[in-house]
Amino acid sequence: MIIAEWKPIPELVSMLKGHKSVLLVGCATCVAECAAGGEREVETLAPLLRMALKTEGVSVEIKRKTIERQCEWEFVEALAGEIEEVDAVLSIACGIGVQALSERFAHLPVYPGVNTTSLAIREQPGLWTARCAACGDCVLGETFGLCPVARCAKSLMNGPCGGTRHNGMCEVDENVECVWNLIYERAKARGELQKLYEVRRAKNWSNSAHGGPKRMLREDLRP
Ligand code: SF4
Ligand code: SF4
Repeated sequence: MIIAEWKPIPELVSMLKGHKSVLLVGCATCVAECAAGGEREVETLAPLLRMALKTEGVSVEIKRKTIERQCEWEFVEALAGEIEEVDAVLSIACGIGVQALSERFAHLPVYPGVNTTSLAIREQPGLWTARCAACGDCVLGETFGLCPVARCAKSLMNGPCGGTRHNGMCEVDENVECVWNLIYERAKARGELQKLYEVRRAKNWSNSAHGGPKRMLREDLRP
């Protein structure tokens, strides 16, 4: 899922100052799963914002709405009525949702209420860890199902880097397991260590973020 976390309240307050009425919009999909941008978070954030704005001597009406997905036009369209009544929008969806609202309702400022952080999995209650960086050339078939792009601090394609701690943790963050150590251990457990000696093709980075804006075109799905 796409995960995100709230921006600090003072940052949100500085965005909303100067507006009279703001629609706080949640998204009931990924960001709801990671407890950052769903209906519950809309209901929690709205009074916090009101209070923080009031402390600054500013009165802003905060209206609330949560839609199923902010990244699909049919759901975005359902906001058209409420948008008429406000002079700004605060979206707590991921960056895709914020941009969709901003594109559809281009006459209004649409502010991001969260920082979108990664494509991640919930490992434990309250702990999400990145699993994919959408690099555009998946190597999981060669790395025993563990992603070195998203999970190695240096995105090494031929790790480990030599800094792995003795307990298997990453030298950059000792709270994170060295993914190349995990790759080694999984290869060993499968009796396939020799695969790590194979010379692999160079990874194609042209589809990653370094290659400019990405797009995917499926002629078979086009009208
Ligand atoms: S190799 Fe690329 S596409 Fe595959 S999981 Fe990692 S970042 Fe995602
Ligand atoms: S210790 Fe492992 S995960 Fe950390 S930077 Fe080195 S190879 Fe990457």
